[in-house]
Amino acid sequence: MSADASSGALPRCALHPDALAGTTCQRCGSFVCTACTTWVMGRMYCPPCAARPEVNYLETFRLGLWGRRDASAWLVGGVTVLLAGLMLVASMAGDLRAAVVCAGSVGVGVAFFMGRRWARMGLLAVPLAGMLLTAESLGTPAVLFFIPLMVAVNIFRDTRSRLFFRLDVPERELHKLWNLRVNNPLARHALSLSVGSLFLPVFAPLLSLFGGGSALTFVFAAMAMLALILGTVALRRVDPEARPPIGRRWEALGAVCLALATLTLWGTLYWQRMVELFGGAVD
Ligand SMILES: [Zn+2]
Ligand SMILES: [Zn+2]
Repeated sequence: MSADASSGALPRCALHPDALAGTTCQRCGSFVCTACTTWVMGRMYCPPCAARPEVNYLETFRLGLWGRRDASAWLVGGVTVLLAGLMLVASMAGDLRAAVVCAGSVGVGVAFFMGRRWARMGLLAVPLAGMLLTAESLGTPAVLFFIPLMVAVNIFRDTRSRLFFRLDVPERELHKLWNLRVNNPLARHALSLSVGSLFLPVFAPLLSLFGGGSALTFVFAAMAMLALILGTVALRRVDPEARPPIGRRWEALGAVCLALATLTLWGTLYWQRMVELFGGAVD
């Protein structure tokens, strides 16, 4: 009797009343049994919570980009259109070899734009083929193909591009991309603005030597003001416990501090100049 009462008082799984709960969901607090416990990025949830888009935010982020054309796909598409034009010019000029090279590249470009996986390898082959085939016939220097090759290698390795081709991406890389794009980007912008505005005290005395420095000085000061506002907003948003978490506290804080330092320096310089100008007039 007492054994029954004590086991009845023990928490039971919200989904399986027969099973004893081992823990509680970190989002809704409901009891979950061992079988129901679902781990998402280091936290325990009940199955309904684990399926929520804001809890599994990396998965939501991945699904949002899955199969969606990215900037590099559009870049390849644009270059393909140019190559198609070049192919026409080459065939009209009677240069069959160049026309064939262009036609092959156009094929790869179209396939890439359409998301055919083999075209990722093809994209690497295009600059190499161009280098080998046109170097002797047209006398084009091989160096000319070096930059397209580097671009192709970068696109091949790019996480975002792999998501367009519906290829699996390790969670670490997905997190890096998410961090770059979604995690409080305002803090990042504020920091670059404040770093840019730091040049103000460096350039201000130099610019004033050349006369027309005041407009530029104003631009730098406005940048610092904007960095201060954006940095403050970004700092207020920071909430590492939210799902998805909002981070970049140090970048936001750095932006605010740098902007304040810049404005203080600017104010001091401006004040000194005012004293120089009007202090002399009063005497
Ligand atoms: Zn839950
Ligand atoms: Zn259960």
